[in-house]
Amino acid sequence: MSRRRQPSRAHKISRAATEISKERRMSKRIAGPEIERLIQLLARLPGLGPRSARKAALALLKRREELLVPLSGALAAAVESIVTCPVCGSLDTVAPCTICRDERRDRSVIVVVEEMGDLWALERAAVINATYHVLGGHLSPLDGIGPDRLNIATLIERAGSEDVKEVILALNVTVEGQSTAHYLTEQLAPTGIAVSRLAQGVPIGGELDYLDEGTLAAAIKARKRI
Ligand SMILES: [Zn+2]
Repeated sequence: MSRRRQPSRAHKISRAATEISKERRMSKRIAGPEIERLIQLLARLPGLGPRSARKAALALLKRREELLVPLSGALAAAVESIVTCPVCGSLDTVAPCTICRDERRDRSVIVVVEEMGDLWALERAAVINATYHVLGGHLSPLDGIGPDRLNIATLIERAGSEDVKEVILALNVTVEGQSTAHYLTEQLAPTGIAVSRLAQGVPIGGELDYLDEGTLAAAIKARKRI
């Protein structure tokens, strides 16, 4: 005598939960198109998924006067005034940018970075008082990003000027970052300028046991006599 297997209690509950969530997905909109659009756009920002975008949108709606209105004004002002610096390629509201205009900076040194975020990180650390050059990415032949797609021509031009004595390649320690650094080193060679790159190795506060083999190998290779 065979008895048909009855679904377990847990199975029944999980099926019921699936039905409810299906129903919810098919339910009517909960906000007007403007708010839906706001959430969709916020969700495109790096670090924000749909859930965080909804939270951010809700915060903006609840704090209309102190957050939403000033943010909307700041966005409109940014759209109007942001320009790419013709000298270094960074973004600012003045051209040349604030850094390129700053007379107190050492103009004999150019720090080359991939993105604006890298420039900001170096400025936050306040470790060097030089000028910058923002490439706008790294070489990536597989994605069709060749030298002509990056801000390289103006770098070679700048490096050829008499004022510049050193170019520091502060590129990411990734395959693409390092192959970009290699390419730039070759391109800069005819100018006779000093080209250096950031040191690689043990980070401040780093415990050897936690480091990956690549970092340890780089640290041993770049060891210093004390
Ligand atoms: Zn600039």
